[in-house]
Amino acid sequence: MRGTFRIKARMRRFARRHPRISFALRSFILFSAAFGGAYGFVSGSRTDAYDPNTFAIGASFLFAIACVALATLSMRMRWMRKKMRGLALHNEALVDRNWELKEAEERARNLFESQSDIVLLRAADGTITFVNDAFCELAQQPREALLGSQYVLPIIEQGKINIDSRGTRIHDQKIPSAAGPRWIAWREGIVRFDAGQLAELQCVGRDVTDRTETERALAEARDHADDASRAKSRFLAMASHEIRTPLNGIMGMNGLLLETTLTPEQTTYAKAIKTSSEALLSLIDELLDYSKIEAGKIDLEHRPFALASLIEDITELLAPRAQARKLEIASYVDERLPMQVIGDAARLRQVLLNLAGNAIKFTTEGGVALIVEPGKQANEISFLVRDTGIGIAPEAQARIFREFEQADERIARNYGGTGLGLAISERIVRRMGGHITLQSALGQGSTFEVTIPLPPHDDGDGIDKPIETPDLRDTSIMLIAPHSVEASLIERRLERWGAQTCTISDIAVARALIPERAWHAILVDGAMNHSAVTQLGELAQPHALHRLIMFTPTMRHEYPPEAMAGYTGYLVKPLRAASLATRLSAPAPALAPSMADIDESTEPEVSSPNTVRSPHRLTILLAEDNEINALLMRTLLTRMGHQVVLTTNGEAALESWLGAESAGTPYDLVLMDVQMPRLDGIEATRQIRAREAGQRVQRTPILALTANALVEDRYACFEAGMDGFLVKPLDRDKLAEVLAGLKPMHTLAA
Ligand code: ADP
Repeated sequence: MRGTFRIKARMRRFARRHPRISFALRSFILFSAAFGGAYGFVSGSRTDAYDPNTFAIGASFLFAIACVALATLSMRMRWMRKKMRGLALHNEALVDRNWELKEAEERARNLFESQSDIVLLRAADGTITFVNDAFCELAQQPREALLGSQYVLPIIEQGKINIDSRGTRIHDQKIPSAAGPRWIAWREGIVRFDAGQLAELQCVGRDVTDRTETERALAEARDHADDASRAKSRFLAMASHEIRTPLNGIMGMNGLLLETTLTPEQTTYAKAIKTSSEALLSLIDELLDYSKIEAGKIDLEHRPFALASLIEDITELLAPRAQARKLEIASYVDERLPMQVIGDAARLRQVLLNLAGNAIKFTTEGGVALIVEPGKQANEISFLVRDTGIGIAPEAQARIFREFEQADERIARNYGGTGLGLAISERIVRRMGGHITLQSALGQGSTFEVTIPLPPHDDGDGIDKPIETPDLRDTSIMLIAPHSVEASLIERRLERWGAQTCTISDIAVARALIPERAWHAILVDGAMNHSAVTQLGELAQPHALHRLIMFTPTMRHEYPPEAMAGYTGYLVKPLRAASLATRLSAPAPALAPSMADIDESTEPEVSSPNTVRSPHRLTILLAEDNEINALLMRTLLTRMGHQVVLTTNGEAALESWLGAESAGTPYDLVLMDVQMPRLDGIEATRQIRAREAGQRVQRTPILALTANALVEDRYACFEAGMDGFLVKPLDRDKLAEVLAGLKPMHTLAA
């Protein structure tokens, strides 16, 4: 069957391909059949052996064949007609489909043409095969003119070209149009390949002028903000410079004052100046810090530091401020904590100073406590700053950690402040890996809790030593003080050390209880009625081993030596744990001590002049326009054994340097202030370096004296040819160290 079909199919194909041959063949077959039949009849009827029967049989046979052929033809005709009807139906369906396709194509074309996006098709040779209305409008040309041409849009500005993973070119172009220049974002891709060749390129463009303009405006705004931020940093640096310069004078002069022979009282005052100016300096540094934090440039140190002394230093630093407002300030460091931990002490101090400073600022009655305890997680430490102040309303509690936010504008105006402190603190703490939480209610004080991970420092012997504590087990101590922040912390501390503590705020009750038993110690708050305090000391003499009075430095003069005859010693508030421990573990005094016998461990010592003398005597040119700083520098340098020539501006410094060079006695060192009238330090240095190069003389070391803490300013010094810089306020040890490394020029030359 299959073979038959194959032959038929081949024959049909042959007939289709060669219709003439097939026609000739068919005509020949028909002619042969007709001729054969006719010839058969004619020759059959003429022969002698003509047999009418046989002839009739033959004629009937032929007739039968003709009938069969006719019947077959008729059937084939019917089959063909049926097929034709099927074909006509199919054709109709195809016509419908064709209409649909045409309609769809028309719709698509209309859609493309009316698109706001620009659509363009190009043939492989760049000829335009399709453009939509948007393209015509942009090109300002009719469609007919564009189709078939190789028109290219003029470009004002070309953006960066990117190619995505599917090979689509993505880029922006600025193109002139009737409505002015427009930014078009193009996506260009190959849509069809013919035998692997590029056939058509489809370009779709979108007008992104608004987006681009917005982006540009944003970028401009960002640049302006950056400029403003830089200007702010410069302003902060300038302000800090302006403050640092007089501060240099204060700190330096005070340092000189402390080196003279002073009475203990004068020493206390001078030390207070030192502490305050140091605090002011740290404030300036904080200002600079803010600009650094804003710029995300905050580096943390990881160094061991003593936890208890850090906290006590903070408390002592803030004590004068608190005591001036008649507030108490006290600290408590849990004994379970390690002596030393690793972290950034300066930043932690900055955070705690801010929190405790706020606590004092917003408290009018009561006091402030700094409590340090182990945190919930291992190596975590909690720093609690608790006050009895005005408190913070719940709705303001989250807000105050944002920049320039204050809980209550009206109240804040009375207290002052910028609203920056908590924002800085919060960022620093977060950077340390910790967090700050707040518990407060209006009128009921506040507790800020800073929790940060601070690993213990192992100082070599593998043991993290806890804070040292005295053993006061089986001892009784009476604390006579009003119920106050400090009293409760002292009580807590004494109980931790094992003592049985009894805190009494009523002097009459205390007087009645003292003779009742033998006390290891009584601690009396000097803030209570003075004569009653004096009497308590005398009363307790036979009953208490240690009789200690506690007062603030200002209160001390209110107790003349005779008023303290009954006491064995005194402690300065806020109490240092170490001082309290020393007092309580000291052996019993043989006699009632006089004021002179009192161990003043917390009293400032009188320092003796300790200026380091330099190994070489140098001739130093000092260029400094600020009189106080000049005097300070000259005194320091002279004390170190150097010879100083002072000039007050850059021009005079240059002349003096030239004079010394030409006289053959060059300076061993130039100390050059950066900001000076006439010629500033940078320019003066440049000129000195230029002349050195011209005259081929030996290079004089030049050090900048600068209060500017910004890196750019330091670069400017080096660029001008300076060899280093000393930052104001001047660190004497640093100065001595730098000078010790220098030798006189004539020695160097030799
Ligand atoms: P500043 O104190 O300079 O205004 P801060 O950021 O340190 O800025 O504090 C923000 C605000 O939070 C303060 O203005 C004050 O309203 C509130 N605040 C902070 N600490 C306390 C506190 N201990 N008691 C009451 N209010 C406080």
